Amino acid sequence: MTEILDGKLISQQIQEELFLEIDRIKEQGGKIPHLAAILVGNDGASETYVAAKVKACEKVGFKSTLLRLPETTTEQELLAKVNKLNTNPEIDGYIVQLPLPKHINENKIIEAIAPQKDVDGFHPQNVGRMALNLPTYLPATPYGIIQLLERYAIDTTGKHCVVIGRSHIVGSPMSILMARNAFPGNCTVTLCHSRTANLKEFTQKADILIVALGKPEFITADMVKEGVVIIDVGITRIPSATTKSGFKLAGDVHYDSVAPKASFITPVPGGVGPMTIASLLVNTLKASRKEIYK
Ligand code: NAP
Repeated sequence: MTEILDGKLISQQIQEELFLEIDRIKEQGGKIPHLAAILVGNDGASETYVAAKVKACEKVGFKSTLLRLPETTTEQELLAKVNKLNTNPEIDGYIVQLPLPKHINENKIIEAIAPQKDVDGFHPQNVGRMALNLPTYLPATPYGIIQLLERYAIDTTGKHCVVIGRSHIVGSPMSILMARNAFPGNCTVTLCHSRTANLKEFTQKADILIVALGKPEFITADMVKEGVVIIDVGITRIPSATTKSGFKLAGDVHYDSVAPKASFITPVPGGVGPMTIASLLVNTLKASRKEIYK
């Protein structure tokens, strides 16, 4: 029997827990967590993602501030905004929505974010702390996957976890988290990417397959074994004749053929996506409580 890993449901549960927590904080006269987001330019997908994050903040009772900057913003101007947020005691954590316009060096901006306020977990200090298994802000998408595995009590110890994709925001941190001495974790991890030879030989041996390459329906039934746990991170807009908008969202896994072989699987949409937002909120609460950096 295949069980759906329902990210939408778990994300709602987490948000309800946060809502109750905010009620408690209000009653006690404590500080309401405050998340800020910087959005540079008018990229459609980025606008949608930021709007969803701001809306989620409002829903659970957090404060949120959206700083919109024009496409023409210089690196210096953006650095100045980042420094302002670093020193603003009102703001607990913030994100700089990626990608940034080509003329801005993303690494330079990420390194300028105060690690204590880096709720996206992208600053090298926080990445290093993650690698060392020290308290840190885990990047939102991998953290969301970890919480999903945890809440469904998926047995990960001693399993062979194959991760496809080595990006800094998903694949690479995911491989670190699944290998660490923790639950979920304690897997034997294989990290695959575009230069991996004979990818299918690895995917067929996976007990847990985490797919983050951005190629719609890339993983097919012949590439997986019976009973595999499938985490599909991919989100790609593909044309559709059956939807009003003319497109639909596709994951990296060919769901209809793979799901019958899987023990657990995340749908797209409604799997990893909603968990990403919930994780950002959890990180913001941690920032406001100074749980990571005391
Ligand atoms: P990315 O930066 O483009 O990285 C893609 C990775 O896949 C790279 O490491 C690349 O290898 C590897 N790859 C590409 N083609 C491959 C192939 N044929 N075989 C094996 N590996 C291959 O992508 P990303 O930012 O990690 O995102 C991946 C997907 O997840 C996208 O669809 C994105 O929209 C989605 N996403 C979803 C969420 C969410 O909240 N659900 C969050 C973030 C991203 P090389 O390193 O060798 O190039």
